[in-house]
Amino acid sequence: MNKSLTVFRTSTTAERLPVSGWDLRTVVLGMQTPIPEAVHDLVARLVDRDCVIATSPRAAQWLIDVDLDPALRLPLFVAGTTTGSRPLNAGWDVRIASTPGGESATRLLHSQGFRKPLFVGARETAGTVEEAAAQLGLDLSHLAVYATVPRRDLPASGLPRLEETDFVAFLAPSAVRFLKELAPSYFAALASKSTAAVAGSATFHALRRTGWRHIRLASAPDLVSLTLSLGDPMPSKDLFARAQAVIPGGVHSPVRAFRNVGSEPFYVESARGAHLKTVDGIDLLDWVGSWGPMILGHGNPAVAEAVIRALGSGSSFGACSVPEVELSEEICKRNPWVEKVRLVSSGTEATMSALRLARGFTGKTAFVKFRGCYHGHADSFLVAAGSGALTHGHPSSPGVTPDTAKDTLIAEFNDLYSVEAAFAIRKNDVACVFVEPVPGNMGLIPPAPGFLEGLRRLCDENGALLVLDEVMTGFRLGPAGAAGLFDLRPDLATYGKIIGGGLPLAAFGGRRDIMDRLSPLGPVYQAGTLSGNPLACAAGLALLRELTPAVYQRLEALGVRLEAAVTAGIAGRPLRFQRVGSMATLFFHDGPVTTFADVEACDKEAFGRFFRRMLDKGHFLPPAQFEAFFVSDAHTAADIDRLARDMVVEAIASLG
Ligand SMILES: *Cc1c(COP(=O)(O)O)cnc(C)c1O
Repeated sequence: MNKSLTVFRTSTTAERLPVSGWDLRTVVLGMQTPIPEAVHDLVARLVDRDCVIATSPRAAQWLIDVDLDPALRLPLFVAGTTTGSRPLNAGWDVRIASTPGGESATRLLHSQGFRKPLFVGARETAGTVEEAAAQLGLDLSHLAVYATVPRRDLPASGLPRLEETDFVAFLAPSAVRFLKELAPSYFAALASKSTAAVAGSATFHALRRTGWRHIRLASAPDLVSLTLSLGDPMPSKDLFARAQAVIPGGVHSPVRAFRNVGSEPFYVESARGAHLKTVDGIDLLDWVGSWGPMILGHGNPAVAEAVIRALGSGSSFGACSVPEVELSEEICKRNPWVEKVRLVSSGTEATMSALRLARGFTGKTAFVKFRGCYHGHADSFLVAAGSGALTHGHPSSPGVTPDTAKDTLIAEFNDLYSVEAAFAIRKNDVACVFVEPVPGNMGLIPPAPGFLEGLRRLCDENGALLVLDEVMTGFRLGPAGAAGLFDLRPDLATYGKIIGGGLPLAAFGGRRDIMDRLSPLGPVYQAGTLSGNPLACAAGLALLRELTPAVYQRLEALGVRLEAAVTAGIAGRPLRFQRVGSMATLFFHDGPVTTFADVEACDKEAFGRFFRRMLDKGHFLPPAQFEAFFVSDAHTAADIDRLARDMVVEAIASLG
């Protein structure tokens, strides 16, 4: 049976699209009428202002209709693309806040250095903008261009009967006020029995102030979002059951299934800063950060704004566009050994392409990789196990042919003799050495002094290329990744994770003479429908621009603080904490973990207990022993202290 929803609103632009499962009714309680004198006031009011805010499409349209001399147009701040797209097309300098509502537009203009905004809108809608401006110490001025007046002609019969109304929605603060004024007893009866959906914080607070108890905040002011906010959220347990019916193991990447830690996955409803909120309403401190990309935390305003802005120009062209050039320049600028770069969509694609290029350039067949290092899931790399495959008990994956595997030589990380041995096995036929300079995919293992330099020397002596897989470490351990940190000059390097700013993007690059062997200049083929995708490039570029030296200094300081506290707390126990910059792992191992053999000797059962206990305490750590976790710039010193305290207590409690 359909549920019924009554939508109270104050303008006549009511949507009439059906929403399945719902009977919708709209009651228009008021009308917006233009204030004609406002046009004359505008020019005078702009004189001492440095920007304009408008938070409704109607107010934005009013500004366009005024047809202001372009010289007088100040930067225009709006909340949402619906409001922003028309003034953008009319030639205004529009800045779009990432989340709807006057508050986020106000915060955005403040973050961009504006101090004297003019708010243009309906007389009743300045509330949240005024509050935010007061908090931020802005000099706000308000020009009312509309007034919303209640419909005095509303007959009582225009209101749906109480017993036919399951849910209600209010689409403006004035809708709340008008209903309360026009039909006080009806309003009181509704308030005592109904759940209401609202789409903005101003309406939320207006309703809250009336004493209305059950209010849901929708993500956007459309009927689908409003009805979605009224539905019962499905718990993680049920979602996982649904997922298992149509997705192998219920997940799209194996580690997410939590099988290594004897648990079941949660489903994320939303993420902000250093926190995840699950659909079960649980708040978690996030130490996974999407496995690396969220180095500034979730929902970074600069990144979100860049994506929204880019989306306004289209999402994929299969042709050249500006952001791909800018991002490529930025990658080359920060990593001087990257003379040319090619963008792809995943780390797997980057490493696979770099390997093909190394073989194509050198004319050699074999290559060396290290046990425990992970380079994505292309066939040639799934020969010794990486993190996912390893903990799932498959030393190599079925489906990889013996012919492919025989050209992959396996060496031991931190053991140069094993690399020499590999070169000896295939004399003059090794195209490259592939390495995670600071492995994070077998837990965090720092390279032994001289090891990476030794690889460089062995490659030079044997006519092989050194390929650094910096998909995890690139832009994390510093602006020039691990290569910068250890003063190493690779021939090729691969990047991913951070450079997409949370969208699918990766890259490989290096020496010009090698990169120029790629098609269309050279014969080594490589291509991608979504390569250089404008949204992903915009996100990556915005993120890189926020990654200042100060951010890396802060991350290092947080890392030092964490390491000091944890190391002191676990002293004398069979536990080991290892860290480089903002990457770290707590190993269930007695003594240093320097080789893959040490990693294999860890107590995985104890780690499983530790993971589950930490989750109960509100920490989301990687659900496997053989992974690094990440500190982000959104973590506070208090978050670090909380992690250190809980980590020490729960690790000791989890020991076998
Ligand atoms: C994550 C990762 C990859 C694979 O990247 P995907 O985008 O998951 O394909 C490759 N190498 C390293 C070092 C990684 O950490």
